[in-house]
Amino acid sequence: MKITHRIAFSPSAKPEPAALLAARGHAIAGPIAVVVLSADEYADLEPKLTRWRVGHLAQTHFTPAEHRDAHWSVLAARWDHGYPEPDDGDFGYLAATYDLSAYCSTCGVGARQNAPFRMTREPKWGKRGVLQLHWVVDEVFVTPDVHAACFEPHGVACRPVLDRRGRAELSSVVQLVAEERRPIRLDGIATETCGACGREKVPPDLSGFFPGFTEEPSAPIARTASWIGSVASAGQPVIVSAPIVKALLDSKVRGAVLTPMGARREGGRASPEDV
Ligand SMILES: [Zn+2]
Repeated sequence: MKITHRIAFSPSAKPEPAALLAARGHAIAGPIAVVVLSADEYADLEPKLTRWRVGHLAQTHFTPAEHRDAHWSVLAARWDHGYPEPDDGDFGYLAATYDLSAYCSTCGVGARQNAPFRMTREPKWGKRGVLQLHWVVDEVFVTPDVHAACFEPHGVACRPVLDRRGRAELSSVVQLVAEERRPIRLDGIATETCGACGREKVPPDLSGFFPGFTEEPSAPIARTASWIGSVASAGQPVIVSAPIVKALLDSKVRGAVLTPMGARREGGRASPEDV
């Protein structure tokens, strides 16, 4: 596992970090400079970058062995394909897709899906096989082929996705069904309590291995019982078991982002893998 820190800032607005990073050999160019720092270099520079208000995004890169040794992995997609429908700027998809009786609009916790998602049109998949929708942080969609090759053999069901008006099923995309919810280890993680509903939420920017389950799911696909997100967004991420990860890697499915969960066997160290 390797952690890097991606920073982005305007060199003309912030000349101090621009000069410091240039002196350390980083290329500073364009109206927005983007620099990727190793964990060690970031730790070295963090006090100054914080003082200069240069934000950062920590990214964790896992080795192929770490992916294959994980018993469970969070499944997400590199590609956000459009917005859930109906979308007239009023988040109409919420009432169309979820039971909102336990939903809190301040923190986003509590929505339960009770109808298929709707999309504007068939996704333009290209070579990709996995997608997510903007705003919907915890649902994963795949092509019917990827479902048949990597999920169905392991007992994972899918549900249809409808067109914008909710009348016809789209033919090139399905949603993965994950119903079982299991708690995860939260010791050492600063959760946020919502001022409106009093429920807890886990910050989304955890780096390193994802916190492991405290109770193993019985199904090959599950979700965290904890809600994860920031501001008004919250979700219970989809977690898949090792045979599904193996199927995704063996089939070279493009667009999946896998984050191994905590408890694991010791694996070797190889070059980072972009799954
Ligand atoms: Zn709330």
